[in-house]
Amino acid sequence: MSNPGNILFNEPSPGVWADVILPLALPQTYTYSVPAHLLNKVQPGCRVEVELKNKKYAGIVKTITDKQPAWQTKPIINVLDDEPILFPQQLQLWQWMAQYYMCSEGEVMAAALPTHFKLSSETILVYNEEAGDDFSHLSDEEFLVAEALLIKKELRLTEVQQVLDITHVYPIIKKLIDKKVCFVWEAMDEKYKVKKENYVVLNPFYHNEEELAAKVNDWKGAPKQMELLLAYLHLEKTAGDVLQADLLKKSGATAAQLKGLVDKDILRVEKRSVDRIKSLPKNVEIDFEFSKAQEACSAAVAKALEEKPVCLLHGVTGSGKTQVYVKLIEKYFTEGKQVLYLLPEIALTAQIIRRLQKHFGGNIVIYHSKFNNQERIELWNKIRTGEVKIVLGARSALFLPFKNLGLIIVDEEHDASYKQQDPAPRYNARDAAVYYAALFKTEGSTTGAKVVLGSATPSVESYFNALQGKYSLVELNERFGGIHLPAIEIVDTRQVAQKGKVMISPQLKEAMQQALDADHQVILFQNRRGYNPYLICGACGFIPQCNHCSVSLTLHKYSNKLHCHYCASQYPKLITCPACGSSNWLEKNFGTEKIEEQLEEEFPKNKIARMDVDSVRGKKAHDNLIQLFEQHRLDVLVGTQMVVKGLDFDKVSLVGILDADGLLSFADFRVNERAFQLMEQVSGRAGRKKEQGKVIIQATNTKHPVLQLVQQHDYKRFYDIEIENRRQFFYPPYSRIVLLTLKHKDKTIVENAADRLALLLRQDLKDYITGPAAPVVNRIRNQYLMEILIKLPKEKGMSLTYKKIIHNHINLLSSEKQFKSVAVVADVDTN
Ligand code: ADP
Ligand code: ZN
Ligand code: ZN
Repeated sequence: MSNPGNILFNEPSPGVWADVILPLALPQTYTYSVPAHLLNKVQPGCRVEVELKNKKYAGIVKTITDKQPAWQTKPIINVLDDEPILFPQQLQLWQWMAQYYMCSEGEVMAAALPTHFKLSSETILVYNEEAGDDFSHLSDEEFLVAEALLIKKELRLTEVQQVLDITHVYPIIKKLIDKKVCFVWEAMDEKYKVKKENYVVLNPFYHNEEELAAKVNDWKGAPKQMELLLAYLHLEKTAGDVLQADLLKKSGATAAQLKGLVDKDILRVEKRSVDRIKSLPKNVEIDFEFSKAQEACSAAVAKALEEKPVCLLHGVTGSGKTQVYVKLIEKYFTEGKQVLYLLPEIALTAQIIRRLQKHFGGNIVIYHSKFNNQERIELWNKIRTGEVKIVLGARSALFLPFKNLGLIIVDEEHDASYKQQDPAPRYNARDAAVYYAALFKTEGSTTGAKVVLGSATPSVESYFNALQGKYSLVELNERFGGIHLPAIEIVDTRQVAQKGKVMISPQLKEAMQQALDADHQVILFQNRRGYNPYLICGACGFIPQCNHCSVSLTLHKYSNKLHCHYCASQYPKLITCPACGSSNWLEKNFGTEKIEEQLEEEFPKNKIARMDVDSVRGKKAHDNLIQLFEQHRLDVLVGTQMVVKGLDFDKVSLVGILDADGLLSFADFRVNERAFQLMEQVSGRAGRKKEQGKVIIQATNTKHPVLQLVQQHDYKRFYDIEIENRRQFFYPPYSRIVLLTLKHKDKTIVENAADRLALLLRQDLKDYITGPAAPVVNRIRNQYLMEILIKLPKEKGMSLTYKKIIHNHINLLSSEKQFKSVAVVADVDTN
């Protein structure tokens, strides 16, 4: 197995082995022997260069052992990091995630690490245009690679190997990345040019005050440079990050004088993207007073966290939860603890960033998947050393290496986008946060970091956990400023003539006119370009329902049948309406684009804009639109789910929900929960300041219980009804769902495989298996899909056992020749 061409490979192993995680979907870790000369360097959490199947990878050392494995091992080729880039907590999180969400630690690693930490033979290095061509600071070997990069702009790792004519190239590449000569190409990167500016920083050597004092006291000549240095130190203290332009302006110094200090390697100049790392002073400013209700709520949260590690904060929309978080963050910050503030990706807008920066200035950093690789590495390291204290981010920020985490806030905890869909790990960041936090136990304390889950419409699971006593529960029932929750009017659209137009009832139109005349703003909500069409009787509004469940049926195009997702039964398309005998069926489904067009006709004097996945590509466009609306340069915003996410607008007095039926007809056991959450959240955008807002919900099925509950803003009644449904049908939180999706390009093969797997599973888990059945969208990218739904009981300590059983049966299926090429994907706690 060993490579005879390389001396290192023949070195006798001192009897130490390392388990290494590779960033691949491999079922296990791999064991490598540790050569004697690397013995002192190999530590858990460090990256090592290893070979697997003739390819090289940078893997992470998980554990070190002196137990000899029963098989022949290859040696570790190199150690890339002088100190671990991860803490033990993260390795634990990875392991838990892999087990709980039924994937491999390698897949977790691939999701968790920034691209720059992941190297393999396939990696492509890209020359950093900003590096210039002065390579005098590089070693000979680095220089060779840098020159090749300068000429070719891109190199594969295998090409780097040819350039150097040696096999152990990873340490050199790592150095080149550290020195910013090149970066790792990432296919998914958005190719927009980020505006960069020069920042001035002190050579880290002088962070040591004695060294700095010695340098200053011993200053010879160049008094202007001295003045400039002092000006720099002053600015750094008061303003945080120092812009070169600012420094020169404030000190009155010249660029040449700055260059003098740079040549002496006292100061350094770095290019940074301006919209990201803001130059804000590192101070904390709490410039508001709590209302009485907030005061009580805040005290209750503090007390709750003393008793239990997780607290659910149920506060109505506009109650001022963000302000409660702010004071909580301040508390942990002053104790010297790190804080992680999680938000759904879409809600991570300039608005919330500004709101938090107002209070925490440069102490808060934003971790976003769209950040460039270099910035992500910098943040990673600053969080690991504890330099960065407060992090605001979307779900993947959970993977950051916190040093002493004190608090995680999961804002809008009900939000479905906390769950990663594809690829694995298909984790829910809210639930993983609860696990991760508990790992931060300090000596002498029995609990780890604390978690606050916040929402106006908590997920059924979290509320259940709170009522069961697993989490504590704190409520904030009034809006800040004593404003009433919006008044909700439900408009029956059956009598409204539509004539191929978007449904805007006279009531809604009039209310819009009134709001716009009063110089207020309007939000209209339409759910996502529903690719789940449903049938509705054009005469009486009847929507076909399942005979066995209280769920609307979904029209499946491929089978031309109506399907029920609760019990998997199918029905032929109805010819005549069982309620009125009409045969005038309408297929329901209209998009935001059409609405925008029509509104422009009907309200020619007003500015209308649309916000959905098609109109706002990328984060910038989304933020810009929000800002335009905030500044009242738009009057009406038509949007999908995107308009719902935690935004705070002053002048919105009216919200219209165009098609509530569409929300209530999704084929999923969470349909009622999602519909309630969406409608309550979108309503929550109305009348947040000054006066009570108004909401108009258009529906044909006006008697639907969820609509009534939204009208009364009655979350608790909603929960009581919903939890009873869940209990009856053995859905979460009473069971734990594992959804298996089988994929293959041949329809018959995948159907047979699904039948076979269901049969195997039923041997051990018979009552818990539903299906197989074809999903609503049963063919994606030329692959046919079949699903098996498993509802596992929540017996203590059994979860892993069940998952192992499922794993085994999947492996059994894959070992059968005809099903070898069928892919099986497991999704735990589907969303
Ligand atoms: P929620 O997140 O609960 O929907 P927000 O935190 O967005 O509510 O608060 C609603 C509005 O009330 C915001 O504009 C916020 O700035 C304002 N607000 C909340 N609490 C206070 C306070 N204590 N002092 C001043 N303004 C507040
Ligand atoms: Zn009818
Ligand atoms: Zn059914």
